[in-house]
Amino acid sequence: LAKQEGGDNYCFFQPLNKPVTIDQLDMASQLRFAVERNELVLHYQPQISLISGEIVGVEALVRWNRPNSGMVPPGVFIPIAEETGLIVGIGEWVLQQAIAQILAWQREGLPPVKVAVNLAANHFHNPLLPGLIDRLLDESGIEPHLLELELTESTMMRNVVRVKQIVDQLKIRGVCLSLDDFGTGHSSLAYLSQFPIDLLKIDRSFVTDVTTNPTNASIVAATVAMTHKLGKNVIAEGVETEAQLAFLRRLHCDQMQGFLFSRPRPAEEIGVMLREGQRWQFKVEEAGQKHL
Ligand code: C2E
Ligand code: MG
Ligand code: MG
Ligand code: MG
Repeated sequence: LAKQEGGDNYCFFQPLNKPVTIDQLDMASQLRFAVERNELVLHYQPQISLISGEIVGVEALVRWNRPNSGMVPPGVFIPIAEETGLIVGIGEWVLQQAIAQILAWQREGLPPVKVAVNLAANHFHNPLLPGLIDRLLDESGIEPHLLELELTESTMMRNVVRVKQIVDQLKIRGVCLSLDDFGTGHSSLAYLSQFPIDLLKIDRSFVTDVTTNPTNASIVAATVAMTHKLGKNVIAEGVETEAQLAFLRRLHCDQMQGFLFSRPRPAEEIGVMLREGQRWQFKVEEAGQKHL
């Protein structure tokens, strides 16, 4: 059967009939050792306050320096890590590394900066997670609110009762929670309003064409207004242009993240930005545009 696909596209079939390529199998077997062989690295992408223009947080984004392949982006290997269960070990490494970075910047005397970590559904639902976070917070002694955990709508909508218990446990510990890729999943607004989420992240797909697509412009405007009414903060992902920035400023979006400000960078480069107190200055809006 696999042969019929021809060429290099040999396929194996797992019990659930999910096709897996040789390269994916290869990757899975190498990924197993990526943590212990020190092949993973975190890059950090600044999150900028729309009020002060300062970096108020960074998102930790993992990369895999795979032997003979160069840097593999998370979009390629995180799904494999999720399917194989390797995500729990990788997620633990990411958490530990991110917390060590918070501590390192703190010891340098830099102003506190929040670090956001993406949590996969399978890791969030791992029974050992709350204990792990407790231990890492205790050992490091960092302010718990400097650690932000990013969850997606699908993570939160899976087993709602159980999710509430885990989330409550984490909130008691004092960590921040954010809802990533908002608008791409299936969360109910009623459910959202009851959730102790601190920050809502509008997905890049809405932000990308916000100045050319009136539907997405309305969705973004409504999302910002709704989030504020619920007493939460909102951040726009994937801001790439001045026009998108201007639009988001008019809506009073709280924070932004995107290539317009910075791509994800190694910790040393973020350290330089923080040490220099890097600040973005936004153009003053022309009179008459203010109340648009
Ligand atoms: P995400 O959490 O939504 O992260 C944002 C992604 O958008 C990042 O891609 C970032 O580089 C990219 N991005 C940010 N600003 C812009 C922009 O202005 N334009 C464009 N075109 N892209 C922008 P990245 O680093 O490739 O990560 C992709 C996804 O992989 C993440 O999406 C997240 O879901 C997952 N991921 C990354 N690191 C981790 C991790 O440590 N653990 C887990 N479980 N997932 C991770
Ligand atoms: Mg994220
Ligand atoms: Mg996102
Ligand atoms: Mg995304």
